[in-house]
Amino acid sequence: MSKTYCSKLWDHQYIHMSGSFRFCCATNDNINDSKNNRYNINNTSMEHVWNSEHVRNTRLKMIAGQQIPECIKCVEQESRGYKSMRSTANKKINYDNTDKNGTVLTMPNTMELHYGNVCNLKCRMCSQNYSNQIGKELLEIGNNDPEFLQWVIKQSGNVNNWTNNLSVEYKWFENEKNKKKLNDFINKNISQLTVIGGEPTIIPEFYELFEHCDKNGTLGKKQFTIVTNLTNINHKMTKWLPKLKNWTIWASLDGIGERTEYIRYPSNFEKIKENLNFYKLILRQHKNGKIVFSPAIQLLNIDQLDEMLEWFIDFSEGEFGTKFDVSWMAQVWYPKICNYDIAPKEYRLKIADKLEQKIHLFEKHKSIISFYKNQIQNLRTDMLDKKTEKYLQECFIKYNDKLDIYRGKITWRQLLPALEKCLIDETT
Ligand code: SF4
Repeated sequence: MSKTYCSKLWDHQYIHMSGSFRFCCATNDNINDSKNNRYNINNTSMEHVWNSEHVRNTRLKMIAGQQIPECIKCVEQESRGYKSMRSTANKKINYDNTDKNGTVLTMPNTMELHYGNVCNLKCRMCSQNYSNQIGKELLEIGNNDPEFLQWVIKQSGNVNNWTNNLSVEYKWFENEKNKKKLNDFINKNISQLTVIGGEPTIIPEFYELFEHCDKNGTLGKKQFTIVTNLTNINHKMTKWLPKLKNWTIWASLDGIGERTEYIRYPSNFEKIKENLNFYKLILRQHKNGKIVFSPAIQLLNIDQLDEMLEWFIDFSEGEFGTKFDVSWMAQVWYPKICNYDIAPKEYRLKIADKLEQKIHLFEKHKSIISFYKNQIQNLRTDMLDKKTEKYLQECFIKYNDKLDIYRGKITWRQLLPALEKCLIDETT
């Protein structure tokens, strides 16, 4: 049996922020036409891409057990013993339903949909590919300080992930034709939809999708996962969410109080709590939902991991692990200055000791404990050579100082004096 098989080629469609298509979120390769140009929702249909030559050939290669270059990330993760995004479900049924030329007549029933890159925040670990605010701000800073802008562009993945086009804006979903084909396709075919942005809850077209499915009476067959920064809600959600088969709010929250406000600038923690309570109330009343906290663990919040988790558990009021949960608690790798591996050893060890004192609080929570212990272990491990570590620390200081001065609000130095002290000792 093929080892390269993945059911995503038979059941999943991924629409990138730019409106291009991919097999899934684990690959950076686009689905291309026979001239090697990427398909885009502006000039094609979901149905056409689904049985395009690129997708059909990939299905046939999978059936033949050949390596799929687009799947390299999954292959690498598997070879290191990690779980990958690959799904091995329904192999036989899917093979039986595939024509000799790779065509399948059933449309995908799951989709990850990125509604462009329109966002209201500019989070430290994000990039303009996901938030159009980030590039704008860097360009504004660059107007008065071109040297800094050139430095950011040169540093690329060290300080900001996507510096090749700082003014990029993806708004394909505002086009009436695109909106209609997307809404019709989802209404008809998709039973599991994950919606990401940008920030979906500030996009009117996202709510139009709800309205469209509601009018057509299909919400009851659908499971929606909404990845949101919790800064906005729409009161019509009280009408739509209860009608869904089930829903999950993937809550992007990176700290308590001022800390998340700093990382997820310019958010307001009180407003976030209010909006979380809005979803909690719907969840309590209708029982068909779930709230999953999804912190991006990084240098700016690793010291607060224990408090953050305590807060999540407390907010769940006895339903943590059932109606409330925490996602994989991923460590941020890029931009590199956000990765806590770059912190001075003295600081990492101090934080590891702090976190260790709270292990007992999380022992009974399956979704937390092994990840929590891993973070402690990671903090105690030297991942980088001294030279790289020092270089990235200098980048961290330069980048965050500049942004802090420009924004004129609380600074990382005020929020994290212990980190400031260790960094200054290390870099001077
Ligand atoms: S194997 Fe991995 S990269 Fe390939 S389609 Fe499946 S999830 Fe995506």
